[in-house]
Amino acid sequence: MTVRGLPMTVAAPAADGLPARVRIHEVGARDGLQNEKATVQTRVKAEFVHRLADAGLTTIEATSFVHPRWVPQLADAEALFPLLGDLPETVSLPVLVPNERGLDRALALGARRVAVFASATESFARANLNRTVDEALAMFDPVVTRAKAEGGHVRGYLSMCFGDPWEGPVPVPQVVRVCRALLDMGCDELSLGDTIGVATPGHVQALLTALNGADVPTPSIGVHFHDTYGQALANTLAALRHGVTTVDASAGGLGGCPYAKSATGNLATEDLVWMLRGLGIDTGVDLGRLVATSAWMAGHLGRPSPSRTVRALSHEDPKEQ
Ligand code: MG
Repeated sequence: MTVRGLPMTVAAPAADGLPARVRIHEVGARDGLQNEKATVQTRVKAEFVHRLADAGLTTIEATSFVHPRWVPQLADAEALFPLLGDLPETVSLPVLVPNERGLDRALALGARRVAVFASATESFARANLNRTVDEALAMFDPVVTRAKAEGGHVRGYLSMCFGDPWEGPVPVPQVVRVCRALLDMGCDELSLGDTIGVATPGHVQALLTALNGADVPTPSIGVHFHDTYGQALANTLAALRHGVTTVDASAGGLGGCPYAKSATGNLATEDLVWMLRGLGIDTGVDLGRLVATSAWMAGHLGRPSPSRTVRALSHEDPKEQ
């Protein structure tokens, strides 16, 4: 598969009220691959991360130090992480740590950028962590404290920020409370997850406004939208208009959500970059290289990328077959 020449687009200067630059937090190698049926070889994962860096991504979530029984797709974290040691220092490689044992494993390999994974709802906390929301926060407290003591940077993921498959729409104050708790325990950054993809722009605006009202500064907020209902880009634009400059996305749209009963999950990085290019917002990403990388990974997974931008910019070259 090859990549077509990029069509001409109108590259306008950044519109009023939008940031000049957005940092993409690339989650394909972790959130993406952990939710794919196929397990990818360690050397392929390492090449994937290198290719993402070559495409200009500078925050690439590499893997997860969860127990291999829960996420067998990422059971090779110890083998993978050392293969990424040659990446330039400008590329940061956050890793997910579910508890102190995971943090021990990550620190032993030299990882200093870590993420914990909390829930805004009791149902998902119970399903995913077998704990109440507050019990999960208590579990993360020593993880965050120790990571910070080691000079680390901690991201706090929060799932089910908009809707929950068991509880329906999630009240904004409930989300604000857990966000505040994550920051108070020392998290540097939040990632607001629309885990089942039901958010709409007005809900996004309401949550961001309420967070500011609880003294959560906008620069500490990242957004993590899923495209289940086709709203991920609209929601992203609402967040950008609010001043958010950190957006999570998954190369090629890798990964879904096992709770959403849908093939569409993470916002595809290519779809995001396409929109941001058109808005004149700098990401540092070479879209052609990124599309080529996702097309290559789709080959390893044995299925086409769900990203519309990857599909639009790729084609099978008969001469290569
Ligand atoms: Mg996701």
